[in-house]
Amino acid sequence: MGSNAEVEKLYLMIEKLLDKNARQVFQTLFEEGEELTEIDIAERTGLKLNAIRRALNLLAEQGLVVYRRQKHLEKNRLIFYWKINYEALPAIIEARKRAALDKLKTLLSKEEATMYYVCPNDGTRYTFEEALEHEFTCPRCGSMLVPDQDRELRIQLLRQYIAMLEAELNESNTR
Ligand SMILES: [Zn+2]
Repeated sequence: MGSNAEVEKLYLMIEKLLDKNARQVFQTLFEEGEELTEIDIAERTGLKLNAIRRALNLLAEQGLVVYRRQKHLEKNRLIFYWKINYEALPAIIEARKRAALDKLKTLLSKEEATMYYVCPNDGTRYTFEEALEHEFTCPRCGSMLVPDQDRELRIQLLRQYIAMLEAELNESNTR
């Protein structure tokens, strides 16, 4: 967890995986670098306690944060102290990257295995079998279907994304 860009990527990953509140709560804990209670987080974010609890539970389910419970003697109730689960972060990030990589590889093999036909009028896509069934005319508007010209570009992009992710995963394994 070094550079700002890496940290920013982590925040974005959490926002995509969970939601905006979870990101904000995580970011607050990360920037603080030490334990915070729900009240502390509320003061720093302006979020309602309900929203914070929900966000903390989502983050805890993913193993991103952990808590410690302590009995508060004056108030006679349990106080939860939350912090980032620093030890688990690298493994969580790697698992997310591996999942993304699998998804991209599936998309690539699908894209490579199928030739698509598109309607130049409304942009709908059809497999060869579907196109054949409709005698190479669009079932929506009747236009003549043409081979999908963007296929090569999509395949190229998918290969690039896969190479990028594989490079990142290799890099984090050798560190
Ligand atoms: Zn059409």
